[in-house]
Amino acid sequence: MSTISLSPGTAHVNGKWDDGGDRNVTTIINPATENPVGEVYESTVDDVNRAVAAASAAFDDGRGAWPRMSPKERSAALQRFTDAIVARRDDLQFIMENEIGCAGMAGKISQIDEAIRVISYWAEHAADLTFDEALPPAAGLTGMGQALIRREPAGVVGAITPFNYPILLNLWKIGPALATGNTMVLKPSPYTPFSALILADAAAGAGLPDGVLNVITGGIDEARALTEHPDVAVMSFTGSNTVGRQVMSQAAGTLKRVVLELGGKSPHIVFADTDLDNPNLMASLIMGFTMHAGQGCVLHTRMLVERPIYDELAERLTGALGYLTVGDPADPSSDMGPLINAAARDRVLGYIQSGLDEGATLAAGGNRPAHLERGFFVEPTLFTNVTNQMRIAREEIFGPVGVMIPFDGQDEAIAIANDTPYGLGGGVWSGDSAKAFEVGGALRAGYVFINGGDRTFGGPIGPAPFGGYKQSGVGREHGAAGADEYMEIKTMHYPVG
Ligand code: NAD
Repeated sequence: MSTISLSPGTAHVNGKWDDGGDRNVTTIINPATENPVGEVYESTVDDVNRAVAAASAAFDDGRGAWPRMSPKERSAALQRFTDAIVARRDDLQFIMENEIGCAGMAGKISQIDEAIRVISYWAEHAADLTFDEALPPAAGLTGMGQALIRREPAGVVGAITPFNYPILLNLWKIGPALATGNTMVLKPSPYTPFSALILADAAAGAGLPDGVLNVITGGIDEARALTEHPDVAVMSFTGSNTVGRQVMSQAAGTLKRVVLELGGKSPHIVFADTDLDNPNLMASLIMGFTMHAGQGCVLHTRMLVERPIYDELAERLTGALGYLTVGDPADPSSDMGPLINAAARDRVLGYIQSGLDEGATLAAGGNRPAHLERGFFVEPTLFTNVTNQMRIAREEIFGPVGVMIPFDGQDEAIAIANDTPYGLGGGVWSGDSAKAFEVGGALRAGYVFINGGDRTFGGPIGPAPFGGYKQSGVGREHGAAGADEYMEIKTMHYPVG
């Protein structure tokens, strides 16, 4: 049995590991084998306060070494940080397989390669971020003088992240927040703490000033203390809608800015004029609900299929699912791994039962895999004859369960797609690309793939903003919009001439 020996398993505050002391110890479990992979000392609320104090001292009202560094110097420091992460690739691979439990090529690429690409992007772009912009005197405004628009780092960023893509999602926040000159206290999911602790260790090894990146462990009390802390300027949260609502209300007492990246139930629309033999179509539909065992916010789990091709596509999908190998992520032949824990597995099985109870047809899967005695696995599962009113069509299952809903014509496709409280993603397939773009434009969602754009996933994510409409979130990550979430914007007016 392998264990994680990457760190003492304590929080990493002000550039060094904390002492374990008499803090509670949690055992982290490999979700595929149910064997322990490491132990973590849980931070306390006092530790949270200490971490915020370290981050505040490093920021020091904008007078700290990090916010005052030139963009080029910060870029060089983040490049060293990136190199330090790349040097730990073997550790990241071990974490991905044993802590996160992610199998399959696409999932693995997103967990590690994509994570490295994200921090590389911010390391590079830290050098050319624009902090000052002089507005040209507009014709009608000359009498009012001119204006200098200045962007300044907001201060201490509190970041709270989920378990499903922890290396990637931690770097989604660390990258733009640090590139724009903020300091950070990060609290990862209690199920995947090592994914964050290794980043704090890499930051210290790369020579980032003490207090710039602090990682605390722990659960709800610590998370709440961070969101309520008066010295935290921005709270950047990724996780479920239930907790997102709590974060918003906890942050309200200090009126801090919140960035919320929440759940989804994204539609994947397939029109009858789509070439069903396009191999990208099948890969995209299957990945849309089985990648990382369906534990992805923006996965396209709600397939809307035009009626003339509905039966044919259902048959093809059912057949293709039979070729997926479910097993331990450490085994390279596994295409799909487990869910994160027993509670998640049981929740997903409960959703499958609700689909049966509400009259949907189980076309594939539906059970724990018979060949796996241990681990939190659920078979890749497909429901047909689903209506958009069923729970399996309305609620985020966060497991490997896809549903197929028939539709007639473009208007009905758009109506069903938008009939959801969520608005994170969507996908459209049509032989007529103008129609695909028209429908993509009509979706009330922040991140839309046209004709298999997800097969090039990993392409535009650096500068392209990501985030949810409606109850899928508040604010954006990535690109200029993402950077702005971590900055205050000041206008300075001055006389002309
Ligand atoms: P979760 O909401 O249960 O937990 C997320 C984090 O919130 C954890 O670190 C947890 O300790 C913390 N937390 C718990 N109670 C808190 C409180 N009262 N205040 C502040 N923080 C608290 O989510 P999860 O199960 O880890 O992750 C799955 C969810 O995340 C899904 O809903 C998924 O869609 C969403 N997600 C969204 C995105 C996105 O970018 N939109 C990306 C990945 C995951």
